Amino acid sequence: MSHSSAQAAGGGEAAGNTKAPLIVVSGPSGVGKSTVVAEVLRKDPRIWLSVSATTRSPRPGEREAVDYFFCDDQRFDALVASNGLLEWARFAGNRYGTPRVAVEEHRDIGRPVLLEIEVQGARQVRQAVGDATLVFLAPPSEEVLKARLTGRGTEDPVAIERRMHAAREELRAASEFDHVLVNTDVSQCAQALLDSVGLSGSAD
Ligand code: 5GP
Repeated sequence: MSHSSAQAAGGGEAAGNTKAPLIVVSGPSGVGKSTVVAEVLRKDPRIWLSVSATTRSPRPGEREAVDYFFCDDQRFDALVASNGLLEWARFAGNRYGTPRVAVEEHRDIGRPVLLEIEVQGARQVRQAVGDATLVFLAPPSEEVLKARLTGRGTEDPVAIERRMHAAREELRAASEFDHVLVNTDVSQCAQALLDSVGLSGSAD
């Protein structure tokens, strides 16, 4: 696996011994994590979004090293064995993990790093990185979450119920996080996320 080398963004500072923030964004499937994260990055382009390794197959339009590092099982095993992942977890039959070195490199040169990962991975980051800030995105209500999952159009009622069950489990983890934000409005939620980690955003 390779990754582009870290570059300081305009305004980013390599501030002595102080590393830039590590922000972990988590929350149940269907809560709109990727949409909120995209808005956060638009508002504050200094933030670097970590690219995860996964054993999942690429979806149409997904690009290697941009959306994920797509790995076979053997490659993923090697990453785990070499301690190359900051955290990793199984989700829906596949493995996902955060490459460790790129996170550290970006933090070291003053770029805030954001991980968009599921709850088990967030727990591992909590253990491994004392100064990480964990943000949990919650839906406005169960009904809204169900409507969003239904709105994707592909799942049958049984699959939606299964996802809702998983979501209820994940929602129980909210209290373990530093901040819980309700995703009612994407722009407001993105701004609240930046505020909660002490970054004000610069694009608006
Ligand atoms: P998807 O297959 O839809 O891209 O991602 C499935 C889930 O895996 C999402 O909840 C996503 O946030 C999570 N995920 C993506 N990358 C990582 C990672 O590196 N580690 C962990 N623990 N979860 C991840």
